[in-house]
Amino acid sequence: MSCKTVLASKVSASFRDQIKKDIKERNIRPKLVGFLANEDPAAIKYAEWTAKTCAETGVDFELRKVNKLELEGKITEANEDKSVNGIMVYYPVFGGKQDLYLQSCVSELKDVEGLCHKFVHNVYHNIRFMDDTETMKCIIPCTPLACVKILEYIGVYNPVIPYGNRLYGRTIAVINRSEIVGRPLAAMLANDGAKVYSVDVNGIQVFTRGTGIKLARHQVEDTNDTVEDVIPLCDVVITGVPTPKYKMPTSLLKDGVVAINFSSSANFEDDIKTKASIYVPSVGKVTVAMLERNLLRLHDYQNNLTEE
Ligand code: NAD
Repeated sequence: MSCKTVLASKVSASFRDQIKKDIKERNIRPKLVGFLANEDPAAIKYAEWTAKTCAETGVDFELRKVNKLELEGKITEANEDKSVNGIMVYYPVFGGKQDLYLQSCVSELKDVEGLCHKFVHNVYHNIRFMDDTETMKCIIPCTPLACVKILEYIGVYNPVIPYGNRLYGRTIAVINRSEIVGRPLAAMLANDGAKVYSVDVNGIQVFTRGTGIKLARHQVEDTNDTVEDVIPLCDVVITGVPTPKYKMPTSLLKDGVVAINFSSSANFEDDIKTKASIYVPSVGKVTVAMLERNLLRLHDYQNNLTEE
């Protein structure tokens, strides 16, 4: 088997080192507050990783365990507290629309997860800066950003092509269309030039910038194609179905596919390495590195330390 397994820890290492160096050289101590209001094992694990990575890199991380009924008030307090540079919430809390509401309660200038309305809107509309003078880059939702950084690391982004178009010619499937990960991810990949099949439990949509990537941002079309039709066409398949029962059949995959799983469950079959050229079993550690990267950026925006 000539499949290469790429671990998230390997991809995140250079980001972690850079963040650590930056914090040390600038003698700063950005503070991140994480709110845990559930008993979800995946959320608890994610909180543990955040604490460990922050300790390694010099970020002051404080985990606040709160009752979910008090969470909105606690977020407001942290929004107003000048000593807090970044805020994150371990979801799900209530699940569904109430969690979408909570995401937008986090101040834009402290939203390290990049999940408030403005940041997700900017991804959908391919708006890359927060200000007219283009000194403040947009904060990007961390798990979609982690997937992009993994695709850059393994060379799916082609550096010969100009920035912004580097996925031109690639066909990618994203099996998840949640507002937290799957839909922004499909939009970002299509904005960068890919043809993306966005698959969810109700059907498939195609995200592209059109033939010759002439459009400035992606458009979306419904298709009646099935998973059996589209998966064999894909150079990259990214899965995020939150159940161990879901398995992407290896038999459908193109020979040499790049297979990436961001679900907390393994969504590829055990024989994935017989067909994939590269297999990335999880992305969590890169997500935490992106959280810290977003935190540093927001710290600088709060202190008016933007690039001229
Ligand atoms: P969600 O429940 O909001 O979304 C699940 C998505 O999967 C939906 O779009 C749904 O339609 C789709 N889906 C479900 N069954 C399907 C099927 N049979 N075929 C095709 N699509 C199907 O969940 P979420 O918040 O997007 O999280 C998904 C997973 O990703 C979870 O396991 C979560 O723990 C994980 N996650 C990981 C990270 C990370 O590693 N950094 C971050 C966020 C979420």
